[in-house]
Amino acid sequence: MLYLIPTPIGNLEDITLRAIRLLKESDLILAEDTRVSSKLLKHFEIQSPIESFHMHNEHYKTPKIIDLLKKGKTIAAISDAGTPGISDPGFLLVRAALESQIEVQCLPGPTALIPALVQSGIPCDRFVFEGFLPPKKGRVTRLETMARETKTLVFYESPHKLIKLFEQMLPLFGPERKLAVLRELSKLFESSFRGTLEEACTFFNANSPKGEFVIVVEGVKN
Ligand code: SAM
Repeated sequence: MLYLIPTPIGNLEDITLRAIRLLKESDLILAEDTRVSSKLLKHFEIQSPIESFHMHNEHYKTPKIIDLLKKGKTIAAISDAGTPGISDPGFLLVRAALESQIEVQCLPGPTALIPALVQSGIPCDRFVFEGFLPPKKGRVTRLETMARETKTLVFYESPHKLIKLFEQMLPLFGPERKLAVLRELSKLFESSFRGTLEEACTFFNANSPKGEFVIVVEGVKN
């Protein structure tokens, strides 16, 4: 069995009892960054063997992991934070496991996009998750398509690109488009901004963005 196990995005209390149990019972834990995950595992007294599995070695390591799974080993994949496969490694392994008729389960648990969406105050009944936008090539084209989307948009952005992002969005989405910017979810300095795109430009130019952010934008009205 291959388990994808969500880990906290800030507050350690957000790990589930089942996640802790399965991590303890796994023959091997695949971690995006073993140094980051070792701290979490130590905190919960999880002593299963751990090995790195990230975007630079996932192609090379996947066949070996599939062999272990075929031999009946229980393997758990975790990322640095949140749900593996969501803007993190995981998809390639899931696909390879399913192609080899290996059972895959992703546990319900922490991820940044869902709490951000639900507490944004922007309709959360229908939404599109865009992950990270392309850094350069294709970025404006992606934003142009997103500007025409009628469903709520949810995406991730790093702090140093946030002001540039809002400036790029302004002519495409219009100054009055509503958005919410959720910062440091579940952490000590969690905060949020809700307003129009124009107000976001003013606010973040005056308050330099630091930390981790999720952006939620209302869909265009027909
Ligand atoms: N796998 C993760 C998940 O399930 O949400 C996402 C990993 S992705 C590499 C990291 C991005 O997720 C950050 O740049 C930020 O946009 C968002 N993120 C992660 N933790 C967050 C938090 N505590 N508050 C706000 N955004 C967060």
